[in-house]
Amino acid sequence: MQTYIAPHTISLLAKVLAEHAATYRAAADQAEPVTIAVPNAGHLLAAIGVARKLATERTRTDPTDAAGIRTGAADAVAGLGAQLAARTSADEPVIVSGPTPVFSRSVLTRVIDRLTTGSWTCPCREPHPAGKPCTMVRGLTRDLNNVGG
Ligand SMILES: [Zn+2]
Repeated sequence: MQTYIAPHTISLLAKVLAEHAATYRAAADQAEPVTIAVPNAGHLLAAIGVARKLATERTRTDPTDAAGIRTGAADAVAGLGAQLAARTSADEPVIVSGPTPVFSRSVLTRVIDRLTTGSWTCPCREPHPAGKPCTMVRGLTRDLNNVGG
């Protein structure tokens, strides 16, 4: 089997990815916690589920991007679920902390970007005039704002 990437390039790519991972971990560790009312946390979970579904539908056409969004969505859902369960009473809001706000914002930002630029086809069936977000994009944006994005 012939390779088209020189060993030096692979080594350089690994180094760059490791640096990005370290930067990401540092940013996630420093993220401010976000307090969210339980109904908004439910909306946020639904939005991340939609994002994951849309990414799954792009697995064949854009496997790397889709995999990154699916992984981020899984991390966000795991964190949100744990933080929902950590509340001590039903009236208590959800404190979204640690890397969970970062994962949530990253996933939603990436999906909103792809839908608004048209690189992904929005499944909502509404018209998408330039500069006027559809109901789905407005909802995803609202949920992004609720988690501090
Ligand atoms: Zn739409």
